[in-house]
Amino acid sequence: MPVSDAWHHRLADARSSRQQANRWRSRRVMATGALDFAGNDYLGLAQDPRVCEAQAEGARRYGAGAGASHLVSGHVQVHDALEDALARWTGRERALLFSTGYMANLGVLQALAEADTAIFQDRLNHASLLDGATLSGARSRRFHHRDANDLNRLLARSECSHKLVVSDGVFSMDGDVADIAALTRVSQQHRAWLMIDDAHGVGVLGHSGSGCVGTLWGSAEVPVLVGTLGKALGTAGAFVAGDTALIEHITQFARSYVYTTAQPPSIAAATLKALEIVQGEPEHRDHLNTNIAYFRREALQLGLPLSASTTPIQPLLLDSEARTLGWSATLAQHGLQVGAIRPPTVANGAARLRITLSARHTRSDIDRLLDSLKVCQREEARCHAHLHNA
Ligand SMILES: *Cc1c(COP(=O)(O)O)cnc(C)c1O
Repeated sequence: MPVSDAWHHRLADARSSRQQANRWRSRRVMATGALDFAGNDYLGLAQDPRVCEAQAEGARRYGAGAGASHLVSGHVQVHDALEDALARWTGRERALLFSTGYMANLGVLQALAEADTAIFQDRLNHASLLDGATLSGARSRRFHHRDANDLNRLLARSECSHKLVVSDGVFSMDGDVADIAALTRVSQQHRAWLMIDDAHGVGVLGHSGSGCVGTLWGSAEVPVLVGTLGKALGTAGAFVAGDTALIEHITQFARSYVYTTAQPPSIAAATLKALEIVQGEPEHRDHLNTNIAYFRREALQLGLPLSASTTPIQPLLLDSEARTLGWSATLAQHGLQVGAIRPPTVANGAARLRITLSARHTRSDIDRLLDSLKVCQREEARCHAHLHNA
């Protein structure tokens, strides 16, 4: 590559420092037949023939795309029906669809937060929440992970008239769940609003899969609820749910809602079908939970570095980038796809394999994963013995 000007120098510098740190990310076309332990299709709905058929039928009925934004002429009946169903499911007055979770978080934070606002975020919140806070121009603070005392301390020091506490519901790289009771208590003490991004909780946790907030906590405790549709629901998009005043405000002021083409109606039709399955067929969640319990029991016996997560996100904390890449390469050779998560997605020294489980997996799929993890352990032990003897 000719490195001929200032721009190419910049690109080459960024590449080489990332590569030297073992942090360069490579995109692979998913091998056909590979077993997926990396994705977020926790209930297997992305492959469900009924969901696929609903999408095909939606395209025949409404066309391939929406053709305009929601506020112009892109909002059709199936979008409306999906918003109503999402609101009922999560026990909220209203819900509003976004094209992605990333855009929902940018839009909500930008629409709510102004110069007189202080935003308080859990250290391990998703990148889209951090980016949304930056975009809003509000003051932003981060509290220690799941630490309500630290949050309380920061809130007490703030003199802003409007305070917004923001947390992932299920933490995307750790799989642990926010302490919603503690967050609501501390937020209410300081008259702060609480926003929970339950991207990995909806479909999986709670009553009828409505998430770690859903029907458990109302708009009085959690005024702003975000969920995504590309994970357990198996399709794409996201929603914000809350009371009418909140949803009307976001509809008016969220720029990532107003200035973008509406989600293709066929996707909304597929999501409506997926939601019907999530609510009507609890057996997928039961099977998923059986898989989680089985994997954890066996992995503990092998002495694998499991974390405390009880959700489908089961990270193995390997600490270094090199070790994480080594293990994921071995797993790939065995036909298993697992996420190799490295900084800056996680903190320095916190690299990990991010294993995700799904209702799609059979007992023998999980046994294959465990057998390959045993191989990773053995290879590492051999390597250590070799170093000692040398
Ligand atoms: C995946 C994720 C998002 C982004 O959702 P997309 O629909 O994929 O853009 C937002 N928040 C959290 C916590 C996530 O894990």
